[in-house]
Amino acid sequence: MTRVMRSSTRKRTEISLASNKRSVVKAVQNKSKVVPVNPDLNTSEVAVVDKIQDESTTTTMTAEPEESARSTDKMEIKAEQDEESAQNKCLAISIPPEIFIEICKNLPPADLLRLARTCKTFHAWLSSKESVTTQRIWAASRKEFVRYLTLPPPRGMDEIAYIRLALEKGCQICGAKLVRKIYWAFRARICGSCFQRKTITNHDIKTDARFKRRNTRNILAGLPFVDAHVFRRLGNRRYYWIDDVLENAKTYKSLPSKKRQDWLIKRQKKGAKLMRNARALEMAFLREERIRSIELRGLLLAKREELHKRTEIMAQTKDASNNFYDIDRLRRCASYQKAYKRPYPLTDRAWNMLYRKLVKEYI
Ligand SMILES: [Zn+2]
Repeated sequence: MTRVMRSSTRKRTEISLASNKRSVVKAVQNKSKVVPVNPDLNTSEVAVVDKIQDESTTTTMTAEPEESARSTDKMEIKAEQDEESAQNKCLAISIPPEIFIEICKNLPPADLLRLARTCKTFHAWLSSKESVTTQRIWAASRKEFVRYLTLPPPRGMDEIAYIRLALEKGCQICGAKLVRKIYWAFRARICGSCFQRKTITNHDIKTDARFKRRNTRNILAGLPFVDAHVFRRLGNRRYYWIDDVLENAKTYKSLPSKKRQDWLIKRQKKGAKLMRNARALEMAFLREERIRSIELRGLLLAKREELHKRTEIMAQTKDASNNFYDIDRLRRCASYQKAYKRPYPLTDRAWNMLYRKLVKEYI
């Protein structure tokens, strides 16, 4: 796929387009009228493009009114309605795939996820695990727009699953909202109670009825784990994914004794790679958290300064009783206190809203 460099203005335009589904579709339609088929597409892109074009043709053909039908006023009206409904049904059928690819290459992953939810065709184009082009679209997007996702996906994980795991929120098991903690060793974003339910420690295995009289070293061979120090607990406790442990124990038991040693060595090598990868991802996320907290602190300080200035100006005006606003009283208002703690920029619009609240609360 040809990597296209864009100016920052263009990128911002594309991003803002993506935030509005209708705008994206309009942009795509407008582009599709003027941009010719890109002759530089590589083989894989051509394959996807062909597939997509086939789908478009089929959809268009099935949506056309029957030409063999008798020409009556009723049928003409029906034909017009059919045509109109076909157009309304899915605007994607009129988009040349290479234009779609070009647009996607300039969208951040969060917008691609939104775009994939707009219609079945976009969803199919953006969800293909087999399509090299689809995978490259997502990879280009995360490298360009998500600074902490420059590492490739863990082995065996496709781009989309990787991005969704990293960017979305919520426990992947129980669905609890706002959960952000990702255990890269388990490639899972889960809440605390699901973690406790789905894992077992190397200590607990020794007393667990399912593993009695089994050699712990063998059944844990090469399995990724989470260190207890993540939870600020002392000791050499490690948490393992219970399903992995059961699977490992089963496989080990099923092997003839002469093959077990080779199996253990292979598992350990594979496990070491998995853990290196998981640690690299965890480090990248930790770095991002630190950077983000510094950025948020900066935003918060700027916001407080702005609030300070605006309330000083407000204190030079008079309230409903024709007295000057008391600046300390203003700053004790609940809305002011709330705004003071939140790092979002204080735009004119935000201040106008806050101003109205302050006037009410001041009474
Ligand atoms: Zn959960």
